[in-house]
Amino acid sequence: MTKLVRLDALRPDRTLVEEVASILRGGGLCAFPTETVYGLGADGYNPDAVVKIFNIKRRPPDNPLIMHVSSEEMFEDLTSDVPEIAYRLISLTWPGPLTLVVTKSERVPKEVSAGLPTVAVRCPGHPIPLELINVLGRPIAAPSANISGKPSPTNVNHVIEDLMGLVDVIVDGGETFFGVESTIVDVTTDPPTLLRPGPISVEDLIRITGTEVRIPPFAKGLSESDLALSPGVKYRHYSPNTTLYLIELDYYGDISRLANAVLRYADEFASNGLRVAVICSSETAEFYRVRGYDVVVLGSRNNLFEVAHNLFKVLRLCDSLGVHIAIAEGFNEVGLGLAIMNRLRKAARYRLTLTSP
Ligand code: AMP
Ligand code: MG
Repeated sequence: MTKLVRLDALRPDRTLVEEVASILRGGGLCAFPTETVYGLGADGYNPDAVVKIFNIKRRPPDNPLIMHVSSEEMFEDLTSDVPEIAYRLISLTWPGPLTLVVTKSERVPKEVSAGLPTVAVRCPGHPIPLELINVLGRPIAAPSANISGKPSPTNVNHVIEDLMGLVDVIVDGGETFFGVESTIVDVTTDPPTLLRPGPISVEDLIRITGTEVRIPPFAKGLSESDLALSPGVKYRHYSPNTTLYLIELDYYGDISRLANAVLRYADEFASNGLRVAVICSSETAEFYRVRGYDVVVLGSRNNLFEVAHNLFKVLRLCDSLGVHIAIAEGFNEVGLGLAIMNRLRKAARYRLTLTSP
């Protein structure tokens, strides 16, 4: 039986938080909101509870979890040999959506770090997990609260869809704010390496650290083989069941170029009798509507926070549209755009990288 607990996101009721904490203390699992996406948490110092997360999510055991802390003392307990640059990042971004990968201490169970010598740690900038970790008095190990391979949950209905009946408690704290997972930076390398783009942008990281940041191709959602084979490469991650195409095009600020490229592919699919939906920005939506296509708007190109916020909801929605093909527009890779494109590339089974419209 899964208990559903509703908490005010800004002022969570203390008695209810204590109730949830006692479930975690007893080795139970809890899904909860954060400012990024919903997480599926267990007492980070209880290996048996942590293993349950992997089983329920059907997550490969070699994919480690993030330890969520509520204080710098808790961070110290989990880590060793922390470089100065980590403290600079912590002082300017925590609590917030930045996860640091550092050398782990002996306290970190091997189940959490998947046997790696490092551990990923972050302090969430959301009153519910902060209060929960405080009351528990121990770090919460948590990945996103979805079945592996599905888009991360950004509201409680997504969590219910994936985890109802499988976990002990689901906390409903409304919609998450950012809608994409935390930025992950490995500070054991010099310069630091971006492992996953997120709400704290590369531009922010460079400003804070005063150093360059290494961005490997996978942080952009690209892989080595992908780079060689692009366009049209297979991928399975964050994936809707609908076949998703992603159109990447340098459109030089002229959105009609982008819309025309999308329409060219949409028309081709449609002429073969396939039903097509277009996932786009508010600026281009009308181009597709007037041509009779189903349109799902992510948000404005001038507000990438809005686009990121809606992204996973839209990817989940894809499958309920009753279309054969969804074609998504690409976004510029500045600021949050890098995180948006990383998720879109992973979600899309087919990527079309066009150099001219
Ligand atoms: P999720 O929050 O569901 O995306 O899962 C946690 C993410 O953190 C995964 O992408 C992991 O690969 C990553 N992660 C956790 N621990 C480490 C680590 N020690 N080194 C690198 N990545 C990590
Ligand atoms: Mg995840």
